[in-house]
Amino acid sequence: MARLTPQSSTVRARSVLPSVDAVLSSATAAGLLELRSRSVLLDEVRAVLDDLRAEVFARGAGRAESSAASSPSADDVAAAAGHRLERKLAHSLPTVVNATGVILHTNLGRAPLGEAAVAALEQAARAPVAVELDLESGERGQRDAHVADLLCELTGAEAALVVNNNAAALLLVIDTLAARREVLISRGELIEIGGSFRLPEVLARAGAILREVGTTNRTRVEDYGAALSRRAALVLRTHPSNYRIEGFTERPERSALAAVARAHGIAFVEDLGSGALVDLASYGLPHEPTPREALAAGADLVTFSGDKLLGGPQAGLVVGRADLIARLQKNPLKRALRVDKLILAALRATLVSYRSSPDLARDVPALALLARSEADLEGLGQNALEELRRVLPAEFELRIVRSEAQVGSGAQPTLSLPSRAIEVHRADWEAERTARLFRSASPAIVGRIQQGRLLLDLRGVAAAADLVPRDPRDG
Ligand SMILES: *Cc1c(COP(=O)(O)O)cnc(C)c1O
Repeated sequence: MARLTPQSSTVRARSVLPSVDAVLSSATAAGLLELRSRSVLLDEVRAVLDDLRAEVFARGAGRAESSAASSPSADDVAAAAGHRLERKLAHSLPTVVNATGVILHTNLGRAPLGEAAVAALEQAARAPVAVELDLESGERGQRDAHVADLLCELTGAEAALVVNNNAAALLLVIDTLAARREVLISRGELIEIGGSFRLPEVLARAGAILREVGTTNRTRVEDYGAALSRRAALVLRTHPSNYRIEGFTERPERSALAAVARAHGIAFVEDLGSGALVDLASYGLPHEPTPREALAAGADLVTFSGDKLLGGPQAGLVVGRADLIARLQKNPLKRALRVDKLILAALRATLVSYRSSPDLARDVPALALLARSEADLEGLGQNALEELRRVLPAEFELRIVRSEAQVGSGAQPTLSLPSRAIEVHRADWEAERTARLFRSASPAIVGRIQQGRLLLDLRGVAAAADLVPRDPRDG
């Protein structure tokens, strides 16, 4: 195909470029029209011709020689329009190989789903499902019932509810239990989660009044006692998921907080953030508090995310006292925050894995990635190195280096997971140019730049072949 940027041009671009009609009747256009409507192709053909015309005029100012030989044919223009359409109308979001070293990367959609969850999602997508229909009685059913029993079994809760994400869960809890009343929060837990989700602002939105307790580094149970008034509605404890206060610190035990709240007749709610459903210590990771532990220690409600350490789809889960969950269900906000059948199906399948899988790391990929051994990563690195050496020009220097990966999504921020990375370096290129080359592949390979070098971290990468850029455009 001739280049679409004519090297030399004419004063009269119109005479060099094919007409819209000629492009649309080309063989290439005929192929495209089997998949796409004429009107959508026409728009792109016009856009391509406009671009070309602008280029021809820009380059051709003052020159008058004809350049029919280097000007694009009708088929060339149709093909260019086809490429534009492909990019514009790609059916899904761009697929990415996560070589960032951040395993649950919020910008990359967090946890990859397990096979069972993907299958459940697909099944629910294809056909009507009894999302709110009780098949036995024929009456209207409860949307959250599809996951509530499993959540109760997995956490020891009396009842459970699902909304769109954990931020929504917090909003619903505060709006339901604390509107126009006070929420007691330690000064050490007034968190910003990211994406401008700041706890004090959420409280304000929900019409609750923030009552700060204690100090940034030390808050004692007596501080909560002293802050309680008749306007108090709940004690909120939040998981310091994306930061750590170290040194001279103090934080009351859950059971002590629960006792203070109970004595005052108000609820004690814990926002666990990540909410691992199993003891992560059995996967070689530091222990993360579980909803079961929080409830057992006296929390009335616990909120956590579906797509962080749990490894499921985006969702916000609330578990705890049945009377409180019933109040949350009745709040009109719940309707606005509810999840759809696809999320419910994927979440249910993920929870079924937790309930019954003989090999959880096999069925929940997020856990498998976090639990991977260094020996595994070393082997993966050797294979990836060989594959990359085969396809990349010799100017690229490649080697395996030690690397530190992170859980991501604010979970365990100070924890570094030992990992390996392929360092890709080209003496005559900036690291960003190399990074762009990998990002332009399909699927896009997203690494991270560290000390002026591109690292492709292996902990989040499933197979060595994933790191071989396919169809890269020139960086
Ligand atoms: C991540 C997080 C949230 C928000 O959860 P989303 O599911 O992302 O909405 C809330 N609280 C804490 C402590 C978190 O770590």
